[in-house]
Amino acid sequence: MLTKRLRNLTPYVAGEQPLDKKYIKLNTNENPYPPSPAVKELLGRYDADHLRLYPDPLFTRLRKTIAARFSVKPEQVFAGNGSDEILSFAFFAFFDSADGPLLFPEFTYSFYPVYCDFYGIEYGRIPLAEDFSIDSESYPGPGKSCGIVFPNPNAPTGMFLPLVKIRELLERYPGDRVVVIDEAYIDFGGESAVPLINQYGNLLIVQTCSKSYSLAGLRLGYALGNEELIKALFAVKDSFNSYTVDTLAQKIAEAAIADEDYYGKVNQMVVRTREYFTGELQKIGFDVLPSMANFVLARKKGIEGRTIYSRLKEEGILVRHFDKPGLKDFVRITIGLPGDMEILLQKLREKVVP
Ligand code: PMP
Repeated sequence: MLTKRLRNLTPYVAGEQPLDKKYIKLNTNENPYPPSPAVKELLGRYDADHLRLYPDPLFTRLRKTIAARFSVKPEQVFAGNGSDEILSFAFFAFFDSADGPLLFPEFTYSFYPVYCDFYGIEYGRIPLAEDFSIDSESYPGPGKSCGIVFPNPNAPTGMFLPLVKIRELLERYPGDRVVVIDEAYIDFGGESAVPLINQYGNLLIVQTCSKSYSLAGLRLGYALGNEELIKALFAVKDSFNSYTVDTLAQKIAEAAIADEDYYGKVNQMVVRTREYFTGELQKIGFDVLPSMANFVLARKKGIEGRTIYSRLKEEGILVRHFDKPGLKDFVRITIGLPGDMEILLQKLREKVVP
């Protein structure tokens, strides 16, 4: 009944979204602050009659808003049902391992190998440097590769690769092979590589409204790059589903992206909480990787990530752990409201690592 294709798939496992009990949820890197008041206002006055019609398959107004925010042309902008969908389209459009494997960091967003298996793309994992940063000098390495993808800041480390390193990598990489930088966490202290897209026609930047715009439930991502790359993404979308982004998602994202003031403040609060929380974790003996994201990856000698995860879950707090060799010692903790981080610190001190 099922195809061999399907039987061979190993799907991505998303973080828990419990429905049974109220947890302090620090496991899926959602923003603890509400979306912009402009979003609530829009929803309050939205006329449901508009939903009679299909959405705009070209995302015309939304692309204009995003283009204005980044000072690029609307033709350099694409939108999708979450950045996951855009990443998937990009893998289909740009990476063919007949030209060599796709390269990404050894420890990175675990959806990349899933897309590779889905589309039959071979891949190579490039080890991180000893301090867990992306070792940009070891890309592309010997032999040919069909492309490169990495998050910046990387996940789950949270570590940021400076733009000079990205520029150096793009200078030595063939211009006819695509480099995708997944900037899901760029608004928590990093510097975006979007200004480089006019200089490097093979650079695609993918961002999302899920983290810094407090809209994970909306499912809206966007990509910026050369017009040819954007046309290719439209070709994939229109061969699959013309209406990936619904009318309301387009409208809400427009309102959110236009409210730079609000999000500047909110994300600054997340950054401040992260810095405070990192210091407190260090005081109780945790080793914390320097993060520029809305989460931290931390470990404490003598206790596995899984154990910390289970003890915290019993206390009503959800964090994420990894069963992979090399990451077993770590837990990844999303930065929540200051009060929630205090409760977490107290539980860690009293119940987890006394
Ligand atoms: N890239 C990275 C590195 C992520 O951690 C996530 C969130 N799981 C995504 C992309 C996808 O985010 P979304 O589909 O919500 O835009």
